[in-house]
Amino acid sequence: MFAQRLCLVPRSSLSTLPVAQTSKRSLSRLATYHEPAFPVRNRSIVYAPSHSRVPLSSTNQHRSLHVSPLLCEASPNMSTLLTMFAPYPANTMTAFRYYPGETTAVRETLPVPAPRPDEVVIKILAGGVCHSDLSILDPSGSIGEWTQPFTLGHEGAGVITALGSDVSKLFPNLKKDMYVAVLGTNPCFKPACTPCSTGKDNLCPDSEGGWYGIGRDGFWAEYSAVRGDSIIPIPTTPEKISPAVAALCTDAVLTPYHALKTCIGVKPSDTVMILGCGGLGINAIQIAKGVLGASCVIGCDVREESLKRAKQAGADYVVTPDDLPTFLAAQHLSPDVVVDIVGTQHSFDTALSVVKPAGLIHILGLMAPSVQFPLMRVVTKDLTVKASFWGCKQELIEVFDAAAKGQVKPEVETRPLEECLQVLKEFHEGKVKGRIALVP
Ligand SMILES: [Zn+2]
Ligand SMILES: [Zn+2]
Repeated sequence: MFAQRLCLVPRSSLSTLPVAQTSKRSLSRLATYHEPAFPVRNRSIVYAPSHSRVPLSSTNQHRSLHVSPLLCEASPNMSTLLTMFAPYPANTMTAFRYYPGETTAVRETLPVPAPRPDEVVIKILAGGVCHSDLSILDPSGSIGEWTQPFTLGHEGAGVITALGSDVSKLFPNLKKDMYVAVLGTNPCFKPACTPCSTGKDNLCPDSEGGWYGIGRDGFWAEYSAVRGDSIIPIPTTPEKISPAVAALCTDAVLTPYHALKTCIGVKPSDTVMILGCGGLGINAIQIAKGVLGASCVIGCDVREESLKRAKQAGADYVVTPDDLPTFLAAQHLSPDVVVDIVGTQHSFDTALSVVKPAGLIHILGLMAPSVQFPLMRVVTKDLTVKASFWGCKQELIEVFDAAAKGQVKPEVETRPLEECLQVLKEFHEGKVKGRIALVP
């Protein structure tokens, strides 16, 4: 009998439901299930934390209803409630999500999203895992706090499977089956927005619904609905730029590209030191050397293995922080630019001790919530201290061109999406040396 009732109730019916128990978490969880068919308004619904699974008729054995027992008891109209809870299991997907207060991702089964008029749905082929994801899941992390759950993962690449009703009019270049990546900052691109209209869309104060995977549903899932404005067609095939590499290009390559090219303006005559040769640092070395042609690139890291990879990535020299002063003196080197990809007091102090007078320290790492520096030393060295955030749409197009030409070859290991929690554990335990992308 339930199978015939697979349709949504109108929004007006929701507000008439009795309120027996509400909490932010339960409401938002429920809202997630029903999004975008109808939004659940605060205190409009009853919810019990444990779902009972009610099998459907024999023709739909693979489906199930998730029904709140408390909701059923509280309702005068059982059929309305079953109808309300029924719509999603037909076309579901796995997603790993942020929940307020949880310290790791939560695995959930969600409906495959339907596109809003200006969105496309992409089948995710790879979702990168970034150190920022650990900070998002760290209650004392420096990235932020959210009251609503969302699917994690801000580096995504995939194939367009559905177009919203306005997409062909608004974004005529976007087609079904197109191989694409996503600009995670999700800028508004409105003409009245000063950052967006002046090519600084990474600083858009009005990203619609938040950044993908950081406040709004991202890419640790099988599908994702993405605004057409945030889609970047990948200029080649998955054989040439793999989905995992494409996903990484959107952050782990874009972020150092924006810093080195746009913010610092690295010149061929520059000596550039990359402090921290993990996943981002290796890409920074390739950009400084392979794209911007810096004459001398020094990779610096405490880990011997990272130094080996830095050398393979094109660094002219590699050195540990302890050996740095002796090494620089012996080689008569003094960096014009130090890019601090670590972001701790120790890394900043190291940068300050070696950067050339009138040089520049650029901060990309966020491991410590703050650092201090002695003003006298910064002032008397005539230094510039800069920082930057993520990157812009035009730069991401350039990053894909550089990747297609082989100037940047990000290293990435792939793991099944289902291993998400294990991968996060390995990150926490410091067992991950480079970058990982989750593959649904
Ligand atoms: Zn990131
Ligand atoms: Zn904007």
